[in-house]
Amino acid sequence: MINRSQRFARRAVKVEHAQSMIMQHVQQMDSEHVSIDSCLHRRISEPLFSKECMPHFRRSGLDGYAVLSEEASFATPQNPTRLKVVDEVPAGSISSKQVVPGTAIRVMTGSAIPEGSNAVVMFEQTEEIQEDGQVFIHVKHKVAYGQNIAGVGDEITTGQLLMGVGTRIGPGQIALLASLGFDKVPVVRRPVVGILTTGNELIAAGEPLLPGKIRNSNAYMLAAQVEQYGGLAVKYGTVPDDMDEVARTIRTAIEECDILLVSGGVSVGDYDVMADFFSTMKGNGMELLFNKIAMRPGSPTSAAIINKKLLFGLSGNPGACFVGFELLVRPVLLTMQGTVDPFNQASKAVMADDFGKGCPHDRYIRGHMTYSNQQMSVSVLNKNSSSMLVSIQHANCLILIPSGSKGIAAGQQAEVIPLPYEITLYGK
Ligand code: AMP
Ligand code: MG
Repeated sequence: MINRSQRFARRAVKVEHAQSMIMQHVQQMDSEHVSIDSCLHRRISEPLFSKECMPHFRRSGLDGYAVLSEEASFATPQNPTRLKVVDEVPAGSISSKQVVPGTAIRVMTGSAIPEGSNAVVMFEQTEEIQEDGQVFIHVKHKVAYGQNIAGVGDEITTGQLLMGVGTRIGPGQIALLASLGFDKVPVVRRPVVGILTTGNELIAAGEPLLPGKIRNSNAYMLAAQVEQYGGLAVKYGTVPDDMDEVARTIRTAIEECDILLVSGGVSVGDYDVMADFFSTMKGNGMELLFNKIAMRPGSPTSAAIINKKLLFGLSGNPGACFVGFELLVRPVLLTMQGTVDPFNQASKAVMADDFGKGCPHDRYIRGHMTYSNQQMSVSVLNKNSSSMLVSIQHANCLILIPSGSKGIAAGQQAEVIPLPYEITLYGK
């Protein structure tokens, strides 16, 4: 039997405490190999060392002639060095000849440097002369030892660490992997994150509005947040405010997922079935971590463990749901994918506006950072209340208004948590 009065007697934990309780239950996901063609944004699951060096042969940096530098170290237009051209090497080929004193071999950008040669002189610094069907060049500028030759291992040495665990793969990593022969890439398996929404009032995004009903935005927003942090979102639809049905769906979903997010029903309202669910869970591999956090928005945000998996009860209010995810679920997803320090994101910015509302608890408001006059400043977005979602689209950070303060005045520094969204530092 549910004792409703208990709902008001929840013990609030601090945000950092909530985060550390959650993190104790997080482990890195296992590894899988994916094709290099589909590894963008994935995270590396094991340290990758180069099995080759790059370049693996001495390579010409430009189109010209492979020569012996000591023969032309004093060459000038008036006193050029004359050399006989004995071969040519297109990129991709190697010469069977050696560069010996008095000779040169024509090479292209990327050609293998012929044996004997220790410098390449660019075409523009030579003059070509034909004599009796034989090609000669006059080198008209002094040549230095090693010039225009990329040596073996100049860029990468064998055994060098290429990228560590948790590295997010972008175009630069893909280029490196491809050039070193990794056509299959060891990546962390994407965490499967179930998303369940509760509420009799919810209808899907494509449905026409009806009196008293609202469209479900949280399911879509949460799925996007999950995907943005590398998870695989699985939607479990919407269940009405019926505890048995919610409990049944949670039990099925959590079997199939690595983490489960439930939105709505965590507060103290009459139909807040998630609050009931959390207050009645005990035993059977279930453990409540907390059901209240000393923060705004989203103070009823709750978390529990079911069969070693994390279950989050996020607020139904879209603004609070968004913030709850960023503060609590984001570090979990990052850690599951190998990020070593998932909280290393806080930064500072100067407040462009006053935020005069104090609060006994930490408050996270949506802000927009811009960089101008050599400083990062942040403005408070309008329509920032927990029930509102319109400002989320413009938010590129959360501004922390610390507990006990009377707000933060314009010109003062504030702590901000950047969001990974399009960071438009030079204006909206
Ligand atoms: P609840 O946390 O269930 O009390 O919901 C708080 C507020 O958020 C109510 O106004 C709900 O109608 C609204 N809400 C709940 N779930 C969603 C959702 N999935 N999408 C948009 N708004 C929601
Ligand atoms: Mg509800």
